[in-house]
Amino acid sequence: MEITNEQLELVNSRIKALRRADSFYGKRLEEYGIDHVDSAEDFRKLPFSEKKDLRDAYPLGLMSVPEEEIVRIHSSSGTTGKPVIVPYTKKDVEDWALLFARCYEMAGVTKLDRVQITPGYGLWTAGIGFQAGCEKLGAMAVPMGPGNTEKQLQMMMDMKSTVLCATSSYALLLAEEIEKRGIGDRIHLRKGIIGSERWSEKMRKSICEKLGIEAYDIYGLTEIYGPGIGISCDAHDGIHYWDDYVYIEIIDPQTGETLPDGEWGEIVITTLRKEGAPLIRFRTHDLSRILPGACPCGSKFPRLDTIQGRTDDMVKIKGVNLFPAQIEEILRTFPEVSSEYQIHISHLDGKDTMRLYVETNGSVDFLDLAKRIAERVKSRIGFTPLVKVVEIGVLPRSEKKTKRVIDTRYE
Ligand code: ZN
Repeated sequence: MEITNEQLELVNSRIKALRRADSFYGKRLEEYGIDHVDSAEDFRKLPFSEKKDLRDAYPLGLMSVPEEEIVRIHSSSGTTGKPVIVPYTKKDVEDWALLFARCYEMAGVTKLDRVQITPGYGLWTAGIGFQAGCEKLGAMAVPMGPGNTEKQLQMMMDMKSTVLCATSSYALLLAEEIEKRGIGDRIHLRKGIIGSERWSEKMRKSICEKLGIEAYDIYGLTEIYGPGIGISCDAHDGIHYWDDYVYIEIIDPQTGETLPDGEWGEIVITTLRKEGAPLIRFRTHDLSRILPGACPCGSKFPRLDTIQGRTDDMVKIKGVNLFPAQIEEILRTFPEVSSEYQIHISHLDGKDTMRLYVETNGSVDFLDLAKRIAERVKSRIGFTPLVKVVEIGVLPRSEKKTKRVIDTRYE
């Protein structure tokens, strides 16, 4: 999606602010000798920013306005090293609530809804974002915060909550608990606003059926306001994002080149109006693509496809970017195989080779199944893997994140 003149103007005002503040990115712009951008081509020459830059700026190096204008900070924890501190001005806080209210509206939430909010409050951006958006819309917030399932269910019944805001894993836990206790008829939920972690179609179906809800995927990250910069609509075909507040590009994570709409790659976000900590070309490492064409729901806001994981999981083979979720998607169409699989990539006789290991029980013809899977991978992804079918239980299991891709090309 090419950047518009209107968006460029907003970028220029952010460039000015960053240079004035002499923040890490302001310094970088100075190094590059950039003080404005006139065209999409200029824009693509702007340097990227990374999570590491934000960490290096700890604690308040991102602040791009005088301190008296900052009203709040949030922080993303991060599993390693220093956290990132994001300062917000009054306007940032208001803008975020407005964006979040749009999300609720897109999901069909109204002033008459009672919104049970289970994400955490505090330094983390989730809970308070859900709450501020709910109040902005005019619905009734039931600010539970995380955990305490007993109390959650009690309030859900007593308050007759109609909307559940949760991560997919917590929504599933609540759904199973409701089923187990046989209290489904005392639950009044109709919508679920579910955090954007990747969840399988099977899990979505289970949550929606058990809770009796229609579920919407909400997207966002602490570095860019928090959750609420986009959400799926009634068409459930991608996530609409608010392009009057953020400009989104998809890049090839290896080359940094901007990719055309429809191609998979890394989401890169530029904030167009953020004051406290504007970000230019921030690499999210989230994997998606911009969906070309109009959405059946009629909304003019552009769409990202469902987030397919992290770019760290992605490999390039025979010039094609490949990530495990694509293979999962294909394997899901074969009821004969288990959920376990492994991708081995090696370099043999001057060529990249992919072997795909899948499991099945003894009742099918292994060779025939391998052939059918190889054909489907070829038609969906563009090259033919060597498919090896093995007995169920042969592939390694792990309680933590299972390693799906073994790439021996660079060893
Ligand atoms: Zn739509």
